[in-house]
Amino acid sequence: MDTNNIIILGAGESGVGAAVLARKKGFDVFVSDNNKIKGKYKDVLSQFDIEFEEGKHSEKRILNGFEVIKSPGIPDEAALIRAIADKGIPLISEIEFAARYTDAKLICITGSNGKTTTTLLTHHILKNAGLDVAVAGNVGNSFAMELATRDHDYFVLEISSFQLDGMYDFKADIAILLNITPDHLDRYGNSFEAYAGSKLRILRNMGEDDAFIYCQDDPVIMERIKNRRISPRKIPFTLSSKVDGEGAYIKDNNIIINIQSNIQQMTLESLALQGKHNIYNSMAAGISGRLLDITKQHIQDSLTDFQHIEHRLEHIAVIQGIEFINDSKATNVNAVWYALENMQNDVIWIAGGIDKGNDYSILLDLVKDRVKAIVCLGKDNKHLQEAFSGTVETIIETRSMDVAVQTALYLGGKGDTILLSPACASFDLFENFEDRGNQFKESVNKL
Ligand code: ADP
Repeated sequence: MDTNNIIILGAGESGVGAAVLARKKGFDVFVSDNNKIKGKYKDVLSQFDIEFEEGKHSEKRILNGFEVIKSPGIPDEAALIRAIADKGIPLISEIEFAARYTDAKLICITGSNGKTTTTLLTHHILKNAGLDVAVAGNVGNSFAMELATRDHDYFVLEISSFQLDGMYDFKADIAILLNITPDHLDRYGNSFEAYAGSKLRILRNMGEDDAFIYCQDDPVIMERIKNRRISPRKIPFTLSSKVDGEGAYIKDNNIIINIQSNIQQMTLESLALQGKHNIYNSMAAGISGRLLDITKQHIQDSLTDFQHIEHRLEHIAVIQGIEFINDSKATNVNAVWYALENMQNDVIWIAGGIDKGNDYSILLDLVKDRVKAIVCLGKDNKHLQEAFSGTVETIIETRSMDVAVQTALYLGGKGDTILLSPACASFDLFENFEDRGNQFKESVNKL
């Protein structure tokens, strides 16, 4: 077998990044995607003289590979993946592959919600402190592409459960586990256990010199780590109690971060990102900054001057006294919970899309309390209708953003908030969550 022969399945951001890195490291690389490959990625593959195919998988050739790097979007049940596994060919993720080629300190962020926000916040802190740091993973470039371009002293990586599934020798220096709530269950045989297990893989290979930062208020995390031997330093963050040793908590409207009995204190009002969920995110990012010996002043400045990110509870406009908020990135029920929890006014809630097996029951109380009307925006809105027809009187179905926004405006009154927070994936009517958020903004601007 030719040990130089690397196969890459999927030619999106991570696959193409892995291909370029592998090529630069001297491997023979073959990229295979059974869909059409985007023009910009084809250009990159050609530029690096990397062989690829699209619209098919040449199984014989693939099964001849020494190692296969699988893109996160390809499910384990796919026949080809089974055939590869049956043949005993190692199947790894792009992050596993990339990590072999750097000695950088890796700060790795995972969880069901808040990954991008916390990743960008952490990166902002490190960057402001003058460290040589890059952000990669699910946000921005892939880790492999970033490394293929240039190595750094630090990488802040946003890591999804699918990437974790393909990680074996990878080791985080600092791991942040934000929360574990149902998402992507369609990819885990509808097993929450299996999905939660994936998230815990972030702890693999971590040793005593490493640190594990986690949310102490999350019952799933706490249950999962209770009886498990955890080698790295354990540093919790919480909104609901005091932490005795190292960790972050709230005292009299202040965030307290205690690292080695050295206390940092910041008022909640000073945080750039408001809302309960963002207190968690800020705590987690702040702790990692402290662990890297960044000064308290730098951390405070960075958590205070961070610019809000698009599509996450993003304020768009006030029209006829009605505020419009774009939370298109809320693609699961838990994210919507935090969005609704944040709302001060009556809400016209625009929701829907591709339902990943949602259980809406955790939203019922908040919806009853705050939601005046629901505008469904999706090809199939049955599940939403069923979940809320006993709770909200007005539920209207729409299939385009323009109509959804106009309907919401019609239903709203002065002082209300129109919130796009879909709880679902976007692929039925939109290209992705960014496209959905951008169309929302365009429709609002046309009013
Ligand atoms: P991810 O990258 O994990 O999808 P984002 O930072 O992009 O997370 O946020 C996704 C959605 O989740 C947004 O709607 C945001 O308001 C919400 N959210 C952000 N942080 C948290 C958190 N810690 N817990 C729950 N929801 C959150």
